[in-house]
Amino acid sequence: MFLSILTFEIFLQSIIKNTKLNPLLFLFKRDKFFSLKDMNILSVENLSKTYRSGNRELTVLDQVSFEVEQGKTLSIVGPSGSGKTTLLGLCAGLDVASSGSVRMDGKALENMNEDQRAGIRNQLVGFIFQNFQLLQTLTALENVMVPLELKKRKDAKDKAKELLVKVGLGDRLTHYPNQLSGGEQQRVSIARAFANEPKILFADEPTGNLDTETGEMVENLIFKLNEEQGTTLILVTHDLELAAKTHQSLHIKGGKIQEATHG
Ligand code: ADP
Ligand code: MG
Repeated sequence: MFLSILTFEIFLQSIIKNTKLNPLLFLFKRDKFFSLKDMNILSVENLSKTYRSGNRELTVLDQVSFEVEQGKTLSIVGPSGSGKTTLLGLCAGLDVASSGSVRMDGKALENMNEDQRAGIRNQLVGFIFQNFQLLQTLTALENVMVPLELKKRKDAKDKAKELLVKVGLGDRLTHYPNQLSGGEQQRVSIARAFANEPKILFADEPTGNLDTETGEMVENLIFKLNEEQGTTLILVTHDLELAAKTHQSLHIKGGKIQEATHG
């Protein structure tokens, strides 16, 4: 790929030299060329995941391919056990595929070691899980401060407070997770995920453990913050109505894409 870009550059330069074209035109063309190439924040190609149990091989993801542009929203729907969480984990660099490729922001995750993948996650990724995954021994405020302190931000406390106010929990800062309702815990985890100012947010059935009303509030919050920050959203959900709100939808079954729609 790099070689072909180089060849293209040399080709363009030779045209400019030979025809004495305006150098501005060359810059324009180059910008256009690179912006086209860089539009995808996530490119997944022929991704497969196989588990070995005893002497049997279990393929839970089978040759999955798709692309997502920066700032867009994608939903992944499918029955329980179809491979949705596995796919999300691979895309987010939490797990390693058996074969195939995941490029995040142009970087191939399969060429990285665990530390490099952790680095990319810290830099680019936010997560929201069905079961919230808050640290039980930390308050709401401290939970949101964790990613900010990892980034050594001096304003970690103020920024965490600001985010909790944004999700409507300004009066719950010193509550521990077990003192919060499910909806409140999920809002803390949303504040934590956005604290990172992620380029890409992965949400695995974020409303799965919430009642309808609370679920809707959490959904709206995710979409609102997503829009405000220009974050790309990859959302696993059972809820077809929710899936219809995203730009793109993948329906998976038995580890394979059955249908891919662009809204
Ligand atoms: P979903 O999120 O769509 O419900 P998952 O991605 O969690 O599905 O799981 C897909 C399939 O992979 C399931 O059949 C599950 O049992 C299997 N699976 C997931 N993790 C493992 C693992 N670590 N070892 C073996 N099989 C696994
Ligand atoms: Mg799952």
